[in-house]
Amino acid sequence: LIPDFNFTTQEIAMVNQLLERLGVSASAYQNGSHAVYTPIDGSQIGSLNLEGADAVRAKITAGHDAFLAWRKMPAPRRGELVRLFGEVLREHKADLGELVSIEAGKITQEGLGEVQEMIDICDFAVGLSRQLYGLTIASERPGHHMRETWHPLGVVGVISAFNFPVAVWAWNTTLALVAGNAVIWKPSEKTPLTALASQALLDKALARFGNDAPQGLAQLVIGDREAGEVLVDDPRVPLISATGSTRMGREVAPRVAARFGRSILELGGNNAMILTPSADLDLAVRGILFSAVGTAGQRCTTLRRLIVHRSIKDEVVARAKAAYAKVRIGDPRQGNLVGPLIDKQAFSAMQDALAKARDEGGQVFGGERQLADTFPNGYYVSPAIVEMPGQTAVVRHETFAPILYVLAYDDFEEALRLNNEVPQGLSSCIFTTDVREAEAFQGAAGSDCGIANVNIGTSGAEIGGAFGGEKETGGGRESGSDAWKAYMRRQTNTVNYSRELPLAQGIVFD
Ligand code: NAD
Repeated sequence: LIPDFNFTTQEIAMVNQLLERLGVSASAYQNGSHAVYTPIDGSQIGSLNLEGADAVRAKITAGHDAFLAWRKMPAPRRGELVRLFGEVLREHKADLGELVSIEAGKITQEGLGEVQEMIDICDFAVGLSRQLYGLTIASERPGHHMRETWHPLGVVGVISAFNFPVAVWAWNTTLALVAGNAVIWKPSEKTPLTALASQALLDKALARFGNDAPQGLAQLVIGDREAGEVLVDDPRVPLISATGSTRMGREVAPRVAARFGRSILELGGNNAMILTPSADLDLAVRGILFSAVGTAGQRCTTLRRLIVHRSIKDEVVARAKAAYAKVRIGDPRQGNLVGPLIDKQAFSAMQDALAKARDEGGQVFGGERQLADTFPNGYYVSPAIVEMPGQTAVVRHETFAPILYVLAYDDFEEALRLNNEVPQGLSSCIFTTDVREAEAFQGAAGSDCGIANVNIGTSGAEIGGAFGGEKETGGGRESGSDAWKAYMRRQTNTVNYSRELPLAQGIVFD
């Protein structure tokens, strides 16, 4: 008999206390019809009611009203709200990080790291609130000047995935708020508790900010795909920022486009490392381990393909296998390096991919289920390394689990071709000490990904850079650099301060 409840009463009580400290009352996540499980052992840790279409529409109405007021607030003052949010997050970092570990199964350091990213983007957005710069443009007409200004956009709909249950929302929300927008967040149905907690922390910052912030400025929708679809279809939501699978993006993008809305799409990745004969192999093996195994292979930037020069392939694979064999797998709160997969479905998808890889000529190392006796409803796996004869169908597909496919190459052009010959284009890296290879990799004819790194792995992006990828990854950019421009509308202004009305292109219209 498989028990469906492994978390001890004490542990459940601890989760409830965590949520209470984070500002979430028990009534928000108990006695609902949608069960929430911890991937640690499959225990139910809450149950919520999913919101229907009417509730979402009412929130859009409230969000739109809030936007009409918020857009008039000076941007540096809007930044003050985000500064306060960063302060609240600092106070609650440990608790929110622990909740991320419990609900998403990330190891403690990754849970804390995710909250740190939220804090970092708050700092970035506060600075940005005084730097929403436009341009002045030379006019061809006498007595005229031109400029470009950036204005608030409206309600921003944020749809997020289970694997970054809080940081992705913060990347979007902090920028959207300083840009003068309202936000409605539809988190993954697998991680609603961290969403309730994050929203409660933002509500706390809003309370500190005072009455200046309109009601409905930042709202949460607990719902499934249907709730997301209401946001996607509503013309009062000019921007949808959606993070998740390419399947989801394929559904969302045309619907938003059909109503001439905008979207930021952050979809699946199939990230590769090119490992050249000149590389520092100690560094490379560490890079492989962190990027391929971290977060149990459930990062959009997880290393999924190792394209290694044939002359060093056997040595690298042997060293990677030795490193993999030492990885501690288990309860993510107990100092292990690899926690569980999110659920049984993810485990089945991994096993299907490994079976396919075998059929396509792959040699599989690892990939077995672990700790099934201790956690009958928790899905732990040993990360897999699969040597492939070529870039077959299974290699070109993103399986959201720790599988690293190894491909050998003979010349550098071939390595670049393999890097680019997949439908996705998120992250990529090269390990080399040859400056020609490094520069070619990052050049116009090099990696076609949104992220191209040298001597550092594919995962673990910093918030200062624009984050996102090309092709089936969706083309969106979030977080740093000038990603904020996607959350605003651009306006070109021409001002005539002369006493004439000269027309452009020298046209005479008498
Ligand atoms: P998912 O696509 O199953 O769900 C993501 C979100 O989309 C959920 O909130 C879900 O309810 C919603 N959704 C699904 N279909 C929808 C629809 N038709 N309309 C509106 N909303 C809809 O993804 P997941 O399993 O939660 O996350 C894993 C995937 O996310 C992986 O493919 C991973 O690579 C990707 N991901 C990408 C990034 C990135 O920045 N590129 C970051 C994190 C995760």
